[in-house]
This record gives sequence, structure tokens and C-alpha cells, in this order.
Amino acid sequence: MPDRQHASAIKVCDVSKVFGTGDSPFKALDRVSVDIRENEFFTLLGPSGCGKTTLLRMIAGFTYPTDGEIRLYGEDIATLPPFKRPVNTVFQFYALFPHMTVGENIAFGLEMLDRPKAEIKARVDEMLALVKMGHLKDRKMAQISGGQQQRVALARALAPQPKVLLLDEPLSALDYKLRKDMQIELKRLQSQTGITFIFVTHDQEEALTMSDRIAVMSAGKILQIGGPRDIYDRPAERFVAEFIGEINFLKAEVASVSGDKAEVVLPGGARVTARLADGFSPAGSVTVVTRPEHAAIVANPEGAHLRGRLSSIVYVGTDTHFHVALESGESFCVRRQNSLEQGTSLAEGDVVGIVLETCAAQVLKD
Ligand code: ATP
Repeated sequence: MPDRQHASAIKVCDVSKVFGTGDSPFKALDRVSVDIRENEFFTLLGPSGCGKTTLLRMIAGFTYPTDGEIRLYGEDIATLPPFKRPVNTVFQFYALFPHMTVGENIAFGLEMLDRPKAEIKARVDEMLALVKMGHLKDRKMAQISGGQQQRVALARALAPQPKVLLLDEPLSALDYKLRKDMQIELKRLQSQTGITFIFVTHDQEEALTMSDRIAVMSAGKILQIGGPRDIYDRPAERFVAEFIGEINFLKAEVASVSGDKAEVVLPGGARVTARLADGFSPAGSVTVVTRPEHAAIVANPEGAHLRGRLSSIVYVGTDTHFHVALESGESFCVRRQNSLEQGTSLAEGDVVGIVLETCAAQVLKD
């Protein structure tokens, strides 16, 4: 029996896409390869224009690769038109039919597929229950909220039981609170249906919250693929480190390398053990990164890893951010979670120390 957890659903092999010809061709995708597993919630994450939608549209069959191959369950789908692919798409603007009711919108795709009437009715009711919209079955689109329209769009896309559901920034039209609720809802729908979800977003928090794995893209390339923790805690490259969350950059010197760790000398002379990306063996001057929550600020700089002057203390409700101007000229932010018991006696202008957690530092592959 195949290993369902790891069976390949979509395999993108060395795919490039060039738009335009003549003097100004534009390479929107540059030799992209990724293997998306069955039952996976997989996210394509990157800034505007990095090629996420182009890749998604190729999987859907709305556009074709200039080079490379896309395989669906092992089969090359290059010549398969969109409607013959077991793939459905939920778009950013849901493209629902305003003159139809909620139930009729959900039934639409099934009717196009000529499914028997009784099956359509049963399936529509099942989908309405899945997205918790049974009580609104007979409402028209103008009579339901944005979040409810989002649920109808999802139900309509899920109704024909596609093997893969593509979601192109489907939450971006919703307000913050609704977006948060829908993130949890989408994750629930994915695990309940077992369908492979490929989700496109430029919102890193959204990607970290929902995904089993994330591909971080920039300028037509995939820079790193990994689980949310891998991507957040072990960014391999500067772009990934900067794009996801806040991070501190320090210039350092490599003293020695052993396996996946290096001993590095920080500005000011302290030595720490830093993590290395797989197969990376740096030497000489490097950039080391550390998350602000993986460091502590201490009033006495004696024996600390870094030393500097507190340039600002910013209270942001859940946390306090301490910005320190290091003696090396670099700046470093330490984030401390607030509690009712713990205040701070530190003040702007104080000379302070920074202590890094064990293995908080990582060497970047600059
Ligand atoms: P966004 O988050 O803004 O939707 P994206 O990462 O999804 O961005 P794509 O829509 O995939 O980006 O576009 C990638 C690049 O390819 C962009 O620079 C875009 O201008 C270009 N592009 C997309 N479609 C075409 C086209 N039909 N002709 C020419 N260039 C195109």
C-alpha cells in the first residue's frame, strides 16, 4: 500500500515560465521544482510579483510552462485542459453568481458535470453542513456577508470532490478578525476532507498558522521549502530570514565548524555556537541571525554575549521591545513577553548586556 502521508499529489519539475517575446521577455518562473504531498496543506509564500499565481495557474491549467513538467499523481498533465484536471480553484474574488441562491451556487459545478439530481441535492446539503451554512441555503449573494460568501465559494469548489484545491489569496478581502477565524476554518476543512490544499499568500503569519509546509518564493525562484518551524527557526537565506518575522543580523567570524554547528566570534569578542543549514560549511566573515525572542536583556553587561546602549523601549501590549545600539554600530532588538508581575527597571540610555539562548544564532548562506 502506498504511504498516503508521503504520496506525491503534484510534482513540479524544473518549471520555467517566460512571458512575452522579442526584446523584452520576462522570466516569471525560473527552474522551479517542488513535490507537494497528498493530504498536505501546502503554501506558496512570497511578495507581490514573485510568481506564486503563475505557478498556481499552471497547476490549474490556465497557463502552460515554457519549460519543465507538472505531474499529477505521477501523470504529466501538460496537455490536459483545466476542466479535465481533478483540481479546483478558489479565487481571491469569489466569482459567485449573484442571481443564484447559496444552494444553487454550490450545485453549479455538479450540474455542469451532469451529476444525477439526487446526488447533487445530497452533496449540496453535505457541503452546506461542512461550511456551517445550512440555515442560509435559500439566500442570494447580496443577502449574506463577505465571510459567508467565502464559505459558499469554498463549498462550491469542494463539492465536485477535487483531489487538489488551489486557493489564491482567498482571505485577502476579509477583515482581520474574520480572516483569523477563516484561517482556523480552512485548516479544519482541509483535515476533515483530506484534500490537498495549495494556498497562495504574501502574508507570512497566515502561512505559518495554517501550513504543513511552506515554499518561500522570490523573483521566480523557490528559496526554501519546509515546515513553519523550519522556515521560522532555520531560515537558510537572508531573504527568507527578513521576509518571515523580525530578525537581528550580526557580522561575525567563523572560528571552527563541526557538523551542523559552527563556533562564531560575535562583535565584541564573545564566542557562541551557531546552527548551520544542511551541508553548509562557512569560513571567514559571515552573517549571523537571531530572533528577538531568543535573547534576554540584562542590566549588567559583564559576561553577556553582546553589549550596548538601550536606544528605545517600546511597549506593544503582549511584549516589550528593547532596541539596543551595539558598540559595533549594529542594532539589536530583544523582545520580552509582558506579565503582570514583571516590570522593567531599565531606562533608555542605560548600558546593558544581551544574552543569547543556546543555539539561538544561525549562520546565513548569504
Ligand atoms: P501577487 O501577489 O501580486 O498576485 P504573484 O507572486 O502571484 O504576485 P504573478 O502573478 O505570478 O505574481 O506574476 C509574476 C510576474 O509575472 C509579475 O512580474 C507579473 O507582472 C508577470 N506576469 C504575470 N502574468 C503575465 C502575463 N500574462 N504577461 C506578462 N507578464 C506577466
